[in-house]
Amino acid sequence: DFEALFVTKSSDGQTCISIGRAQSSQLPPGEVVIRVAYSSLNYKDALAARGHPGIVKKFPHVPGIDVAGAVEESGVYEFVPGDPVIVTGYELGAERWGGYAEFVRVPADWVLPLPKGLDFVDAMTLGTAGLTAGLCVDALLSHGISTEKGQIVVSGASGGVGSIAVAILGKLGFDVVAVTGKAHAHELLRELGAGSVVGREAVLADPEKPLLSGRWAGGVDTVGGDMLSSILRATKHSGCVAACGLAGGAHLRMTVYPFILRGVTLAGIDAAWQPLAKKAAIWERFAGPWRIEKLDRLRTMVPLKDLPMWFDRILNGEVMGRIVVEVGGS
Ligand code: NAP
Repeated sequence: DFEALFVTKSSDGQTCISIGRAQSSQLPPGEVVIRVAYSSLNYKDALAARGHPGIVKKFPHVPGIDVAGAVEESGVYEFVPGDPVIVTGYELGAERWGGYAEFVRVPADWVLPLPKGLDFVDAMTLGTAGLTAGLCVDALLSHGISTEKGQIVVSGASGGVGSIAVAILGKLGFDVVAVTGKAHAHELLRELGAGSVVGREAVLADPEKPLLSGRWAGGVDTVGGDMLSSILRATKHSGCVAACGLAGGAHLRMTVYPFILRGVTLAGIDAAWQPLAKKAAIWERFAGPWRIEKLDRLRTMVPLKDLPMWFDRILNGEVMGRIVVEVGGS
């Protein structure tokens, strides 16, 4: 048997988190068993830990949408025991048991070799947050947004997705305006590559105004709600905004004017269900041209047993950078 973090639901509907033991016979089907070295904490993991019905379908549940570790058993020739691998998204930690356990079992077509040049801890510092930030930046680049077009705004900038987006865009030479609600995050965001750092109120605008004066060539929005609406209404002609999050709300109050008068593009980003080849392409960039030198500045290492208190923190928007979860380690 092995250690896992369980979310259970009692008969009165209350969910409870505990560390317990699981049997390998309880793992879901799949060709590859991975001995988990590290996982990470994403906003979605905290929702799963609260038993969110949109994410967790069956109890007991083991959250953890990201995994880095060594192959323990493989039923396919592409992987052999000992291979260093990563898995992010698909059903991991959502519809099926995830990475907050010493072992996961997954379908082989979810598994990527650990990119050369990244170790397990680096890979989990990036994790789904990094993949999402990378997909957002890729969407802007594919849309033709280049450094001379103007400023790129990043909302929720001190969070996991936001901080990595700031780092990639800064590395690519963009003039990044980081939007954060945390006064103590300004220094880190400048260090990561932001040209300027502003409070949320500097971007949030009267929701009744259909258009605002054009400020942004592009944007990466992790917040949703009135933040996303404010960014879209202040995006310049032919700009593009990649939207991936809802930390500030799921509703979008706005008119179609930014789209039909300024040709603004809203690029929707989903990291979980990207084809494996697309995920691989983003990971290869993290090991190459997008390599982030200051990854260690972004992470806090948390042992599995201390994770429960971090669920509230991330749901309250209090986490800065990324939480790497120590499971088996090394
Ligand atoms: P995170 O680390 O908690 O970052 C979210 C940040 O948003 C917070 O740190 C905070 O940053 C800001 N924020 C929180 N509440 C806010 C509010 N009420 N109003 C304005 N800003 C607020 O979470 P994450 O893991 O980076 O994820 C960010 C979002 O992206 C989440 O909604 C998550 O579900 C989503 N996501 C989506 C995908 C996808 O595939 N589409 C993948 C990963 C994540 P500041 O204090 O700096 O403002």
